[in-house]
Amino acid sequence: MMQEKKSESGVAAMAACYQKFDPAAYLQYNYTPPRADFSRKDSIVPWKLACLHRAFNEGDVSGELLVDIGSGPTLYQVLSGCEVFNKVILTDFLELNRQELHRWLHNNGSSSLDWTPYLQHVCKLEGRRSSAWTEKAARLRRVVTDILHVDVHSPQPMAQDALPSTGADCLVSCFCLESVSPDLAAFSRALGHIRKLLRPRGHLLLIGALGESYYFGGPGVRIPVVPLDEAQVCASLKESGYTLIRLEVYTLPQDMRVGVDDVTGVFFAKAKKD
Ligand code: SAM
Repeated sequence: MMQEKKSESGVAAMAACYQKFDPAAYLQYNYTPPRADFSRKDSIVPWKLACLHRAFNEGDVSGELLVDIGSGPTLYQVLSGCEVFNKVILTDFLELNRQELHRWLHNNGSSSLDWTPYLQHVCKLEGRRSSAWTEKAARLRRVVTDILHVDVHSPQPMAQDALPSTGADCLVSCFCLESVSPDLAAFSRALGHIRKLLRPRGHLLLIGALGESYYFGGPGVRIPVVPLDEAQVCASLKESGYTLIRLEVYTLPQDMRVGVDDVTGVFFAKAKKD
């Protein structure tokens, strides 16, 4: 009982931290070089894009609806999936992040970050000319049908009628659960909550930080993170009702440690709802 109360107040404290989240600064810290250097294979963003490209193109991930949990102000995580699914729903806890995404999707490209090199890079991964990026941008704008509120700490993370009753065919979630949870128990519970949004045997593609205890969500906005190791990620997935298909790990080279967090690595998990 005491433990539950502590976790509840921890969740409330996390929500308070996010009130100061600054989407433009967050994009600047994490989605520009050296972390997003497309000329380097060992840069963190190209690594993430390669994992997602592979996972979406192995033939086992299919269906109509892809839902991204905790999108933040970013779009990179659905650039491969938008070719496989005819309907994509983006979600975030903060109105500010949903507005940022809305601006790109509806105002023809106006947003705090230029996503063009991302679109071009994923086109190349798909064996297309990089000039096909405009087609990919048009496809993304067409298939994203909604940008909705989500709270992974709620047993019902999205509004009741937000998704079809069968659930999504696939979930993707990047750097969300560990950066919004006060402890490992809350992280595992959140995995269980989002599982309810997924159809039976649907896929979960989860990317997250390893060994991270904080990151900056804006100037002076220090947000605590649950430091995870690979074994904890695997155990949490199992405990929450997923079967792990593959876990890949990236270790940050020294020059990617740019002072905006203390992350040491990144995991990519491909899993399936039991
Ligand atoms: N997915 C993006 C990425 O890959 O960079 C953003 C990740 S950012 C570290 C964490 C995101 O979780 C923020 O956009 C934040 O608004 C969102 N968030 C905060 N509290 C949340 C909650 N209770 N449920 C779901 N998302 C939450």
